[in-house]
Amino acid sequence: MFPPEKISATLSEVFGFTTFRPNQEEIVRAILSRQNVFAIMPTGGGKSLCYQLPAHMLSGVCVVISPLISLMKDQVDAARTNGLHAAAFNSTSTLAEKSYIRDALHGNTLDLLYISPERFNSEHFLERLKTLNLSFFAIDEAHCISEWGHDFRPDYLALARITDEFPDVPIAAFTATATLRVAEDIVTRLQLKNPHLTRASFNRPNLFYQVFYKRRFDGQLLDFLDRHPNESGIVYRTSRKKVEETAAFLQSQGFSALPYHAGMTDEDRHATQEAFRRDECAIIVATIAFGMGIDKSNVRFVVHGDLPKNIEAYYQETGRAGRDGESAYCTLFYGRQDITLLAHFVNKIENKQAREVAKEQLRHMIRFAEQDECRRIGLLRYFGEVFPATRCDHCDICGGEVEREDATIAAQKLLSAVYRTGERFGATHLCDVVLGEVTDKVRQFRHDQLPTFGVGKDRPLPYWRMVINALVSQKILAVDDPKFPVLKLTENAWAILRNKQRFQMLSQQSHPKPQKSRVFDVRPENPARGSNPLSERLFQRLRELRKEIAATENLPPYVVFSDKSLREMSLKFPKDRDAFQLISGVGRHKLESYGDTFITAINEYCRDNSWSQ
Ligand code: ADP
Ligand code: ZN
Repeated sequence: MFPPEKISATLSEVFGFTTFRPNQEEIVRAILSRQNVFAIMPTGGGKSLCYQLPAHMLSGVCVVISPLISLMKDQVDAARTNGLHAAAFNSTSTLAEKSYIRDALHGNTLDLLYISPERFNSEHFLERLKTLNLSFFAIDEAHCISEWGHDFRPDYLALARITDEFPDVPIAAFTATATLRVAEDIVTRLQLKNPHLTRASFNRPNLFYQVFYKRRFDGQLLDFLDRHPNESGIVYRTSRKKVEETAAFLQSQGFSALPYHAGMTDEDRHATQEAFRRDECAIIVATIAFGMGIDKSNVRFVVHGDLPKNIEAYYQETGRAGRDGESAYCTLFYGRQDITLLAHFVNKIENKQAREVAKEQLRHMIRFAEQDECRRIGLLRYFGEVFPATRCDHCDICGGEVEREDATIAAQKLLSAVYRTGERFGATHLCDVVLGEVTDKVRQFRHDQLPTFGVGKDRPLPYWRMVINALVSQKILAVDDPKFPVLKLTENAWAILRNKQRFQMLSQQSHPKPQKSRVFDVRPENPARGSNPLSERLFQRLRELRKEIAATENLPPYVVFSDKSLREMSLKFPKDRDAFQLISGVGRHKLESYGDTFITAINEYCRDNSWSQ
């Protein structure tokens, strides 16, 4: 029905993109052929385009269900700047907005109507919807329907009615959840029949992962920010107190930073979020309360000032960086105190099963921080995904930015404990043995009689845990059965025990010296950053221009143009409309609205710098 040329023409004319991101095309085609769709794509994967494009091509209106009014507003703004007819119908809709919706529906020109889930419980609204020509339903953040998910919203349960009420209207549901259980729950609850299923890769190639051992966090944070001047980002901290302290510290150092946590009033939180969206405040220091509802695409870094309690949370939070596809940093600082504190909370969980799950999750998180292995490979493995190479080249480990120390003697102590206890015990007991702890188990097996008993007293427990993690990841120790994690020696272990091979692991003694903000190409189409001072200055100038336009139009700046579009402009210096429309993200409508203003600014800049191309 829709030839592929027509689809790609719409992609470039309306959205200004030359190619689809992974999985977008198949989803668009499925929707265009009126199939139900269930798509799991990571944050930044480009979910909106998957339904906005077909909504524009199909006749009738696409009803988008979205959990937060702030998210709806952003989406409507973004769709409109691309020339789509979009509106949101909710408790904040003005009379003017309502009359726009009425007229557009009447004239059959509305592409997208955003509503909140509770509208579905309003019989009056449902009856009204039934009189309309609907193209399909798009459900954003579909995991909100699942009680297993982290953002469960009872309002979403109303959506279970869609299929019964509108048996002939297809549904496309989208989520960034990584857990299988939640995914299955969504399909069941929405009663999706024969959906076209997509599970995109969770790899975010433009994110650079790095982990630092925490010494003096304030100083380390300043170092980090020095290498990321003029950039916008989020600093996560685990408690309100730490949020307040870090925000105050950054302010005292002259940074544009604001705190955000659940203890603040709704007004204050809202104002903070708005300031961030509008680039009026560069850095938000927040607890995990800051998250959903942040669609800002130009977040250039997410710093974790403390160890998160599990990898899911870490992945979701870091996922807020670099949605526009431009490079962004995910920087974690962790220390021993974090581990002790988190373990303390986990131990207080009363339900035994929940406690064991939390313990296991924490172990994975610690392993991620301490393991001498490509961060991306470790992260993806946690989500059941195999990275198709042995290194990613976009993390601190692959980039050689970490320091290692020789820990052969420690390894020998530990390995000899494994050997002398008969290769029949797990990490906890082995640590007790080297630390010389007289536990019941130690007494029962008379392990206090072994020569290795207490040989590692000079180091604390987390150190020995780290040695074990490193030994396992380097395949010097093996775990046969994950259910009974008994540690066994491998051939490599003997080489170390016999002093034929040395053992190295990540160092926590000295703070690894990261390289200066480096140039790295994340994708072939991604322009290398900061390579030319003229380009860098133009980029800053265009950012200012974008901010001015956004302020007059009452839009967040990243809706006018993404950082990615501005980067490309500042590298290619498009001087007329023909050149300008080739920039990624410049569709017909944006060319008309903003093209001339930006072209003039670029020409002026080139003239002032006596530079022509
Ligand atoms: P998600 O909802 O999956 O987190 P978004 O829909 O917000 O992602 O898209 C993230 C960013 O990617 C937006 O800035 C969007 O304009 C951009 N984007 C989407 N599809 C493409 C594409 N095919 N080519 C280039 N950029 C894209
Ligand atoms: Zn890597």
